Amino acid sequence: MTALAFGGLATPVLSSSAEAAQPIASQCPSNYQVGAKNNVTCVKLIQAGLNTLKYTDNSGAKLAVDGDYGTKTKQAIIKFQKAKGLSQDGIAGPKTIAALDKALVNKPTTYTPYKPGNVVSSGSGWTLKNGADYSSVQCASGSTLMKNTTLNRGGKTDANGIYKNYNGTKLRVCYVNLDPKHTPIASVISQNAVALFQAAKNANYPLSMTSGLRSYQNQQYLYSCYIHKNCNNGNTAAKPGTSNHENGIAMDLATAKGGSIKGTATFTWLKNNAPKYGFYNLPSEAWHWSASGK
Ligand SMILES: [Zn+2]
Repeated sequence: MTALAFGGLATPVLSSSAEAAQPIASQCPSNYQVGAKNNVTCVKLIQAGLNTLKYTDNSGAKLAVDGDYGTKTKQAIIKFQKAKGLSQDGIAGPKTIAALDKALVNKPTTYTPYKPGNVVSSGSGWTLKNGADYSSVQCASGSTLMKNTTLNRGGKTDANGIYKNYNGTKLRVCYVNLDPKHTPIASVISQNAVALFQAAKNANYPLSMTSGLRSYQNQQYLYSCYIHKNCNNGNTAAKPGTSNHENGIAMDLATAKGGSIKGTATFTWLKNNAPKYGFYNLPSEAWHWSASGK
């Protein structure tokens, strides 16, 4: 499924509304109900979310994702409200939508990795196109936009959380709320990362992220450490200009307390489960997980 949207489209996040786990609440702060002049895009997100969570109309049928808040959508909303202990008024208001977002993020089922069309295929998965604009991809529910944040050794996000990297690629930056270190990543992987962190936590292998989005300057520093073996434990680092970290689609993972996962049960769990969320390990670095495996 194409749960996330990407830059380069007219209305990226909203255009992918046929599938689930969009952060609906942040985009749709209103009440949606039968007979009202509802925002079509928001109603589509609600309908898609209900479909993903398998709340049907009273005949047991999946909802049409048509943006029309009719009786069938109302029936599915009432079922959802009942299941969540909310008042069963059939109106999708802020409380119901927040509960929908929460249920979508916590949905512990199989997860199809994000495979946007606007990417360069590489390795196991995908990477970003240099110079493309991904800044309109919203930070997923369960992640937080990083406004006016200075990155390690160079670069800063603007008031909208947008960062332009060394080759002109425009990224929106967020951190996964479950990551105790609040490490920046690109919004394009935020939904996958939130789902991975949640699943790891549910499996009792809670994670933290020791490195995510890096500035070119930071990659230069780490590469120099690797070449000269005089800092960062001399750890392997890719040449500046070639790392998935510079596009914010690689994550260095550790235990929740920051310990190495090399040779641990956490690593085994990740090896078996991270690909479900679109993350692949670079075999030479136990800590490095990315959208392409590089
Ligand atoms: Zn890494």
